[in-house]
This record gives sequence, C-alpha cells and structure tokens, in this order.
Amino acid sequence: MAPESTLWTMVLMLSSLVLPPQSGPQDGPRFVASSPGGFRTDRLSLRQIRIWNSIRRVVVAADARGRPVHPILYGLWCTVGQSGHPVFVELITDQKKCSNLAGECAFETLDPAGRMYRIRLRLFIPTIDRAYAGEQPPQEGLVFIPFSGLSREERYAKVLGHELAHIDQAVRDPDYLRLLQEICTEQIAIAAGVGTDGKPLSAGALRARWNLIWPLVLKSDRPAIAAEAQIYRELLTRK
Ligand SMILES: [Zn+2]
Repeated sequence: MAPESTLWTMVLMLSSLVLPPQSGPQDGPRFVASSPGGFRTDRLSLRQIRIWNSIRRVVVAADARGRPVHPILYGLWCTVGQSGHPVFVELITDQKKCSNLAGECAFETLDPAGRMYRIRLRLFIPTIDRAYAGEQPPQEGLVFIPFSGLSREERYAKVLGHELAHIDQAVRDPDYLRLLQEICTEQIAIAAGVGTDGKPLSAGALRARWNLIWPLVLKSDRPAIAAEAQIYRELLTRK
C-alpha cells in the first residue's frame, strides 16, 4: 500500500475552569498582517483580529530601552514564531463553542518524516473571561495558575503563554512530541470507547485506561505550567 502522508491530530490541553461571569474593559483596535510562516491570522474575523492584536501588544510590550517587559512570554512567542512551522491562530469567541477549556494546541504532520507541522493554537475567549481568578487547589494533580490581578488581555496572554510553552517543547523535543502523540492516541480511543481489540470498553475499562494516561497528561503539562507560572509573575510585576 502506498504510504500516504501521515496526518494525526493531537489536542491539548486544559488550563482553567469557569466561574462567575464578569465584565471588563474593551480592546483597542489595531491590525496585524498574516505572514507565511509563524503566526497565521487567516482564520480570524476582523473582530477577532482586534482581540489578537490586543494580546500581541501585551506580548511585545517593551520598556524605554526596548527590552521586553515580559521576557519569558516574549521569548516563547519568538521561538515558536520563528520555529518554521505555521501556527494558525483561532480565537473561539462563540460562547456556545466553549466549555471549561481555556486553550489548546493541535499538531498535524505535513510530511511523512513528521518533521513539519501545521499547528493550531486556540484560545477560548469567553472561558478565559469567566474563569475564576483566584487561587485554586490542584485537581487530580492538575495545577491551576490564578488570573487575579490581570487585565482581560493579560489573561489571554497568560493562556497563550501556556500553549506556546507546549508548542515550544514539542517542536524542540522529539520525546515530548511522542509523549503528546501517545496521549492523543489514548484520548481518541477513550473518546471512541473502543479497546485495542476493537471491542467496546466497559465503563470500568474506560476509567482504568484514563487512570493510566492521566500521569502522562500531568507530565506533559508540567513544562507549560512552569512557564505559565513565570509568565503570571511577569505580568504582575509589570503593575
Ligand atoms: Zn497544558
């Protein structure tokens, strides 16, 4: 059988949970052009581009000497943007398409050797707007970094930083990418409710399988959480 270029999609990851709605300041308009590599804004509406640009302004903010105000966030932005892989930005602004997911990234391989990716980076705007801002205890080992003290755009930037850290690690570290692939394969199997033998899995079997991959999910999230915690401190320090 002639090999087709492999196409696999992997979806990560969680960031924060929703709680009470709140209103906030409006975003200022500006525009940014799409570029062939790096961050691609083709999939954004005009209104979403305004939001994206408000996030971008937080990321690229510089002090009087031209130094980045948020060096960790800015560094990740640069390494991912210059990684050579196109990163398609999607901002989900439709409330109905949001759950408790704040952000996710997905990778599609574009060549049989698996060296070139098309990356999708999603931020779920209403979820981030509504997310509980304060400290939260870890849930099943999953760590939450608070939003308190951040403006609306800074909240988006923090979630962006989390996803950028996933992408940065994935494009630099083949072992990390394999870990994500393993989790993805398992997640698809669990979502389909089918075992490796093709037979439906019982509720107990599903739970057992989930229990097996959960430590891998936590492991995969660790570098992103570490970066997000640093970015949170950067964003607060600026104030
Ligand atoms: Zn994550």
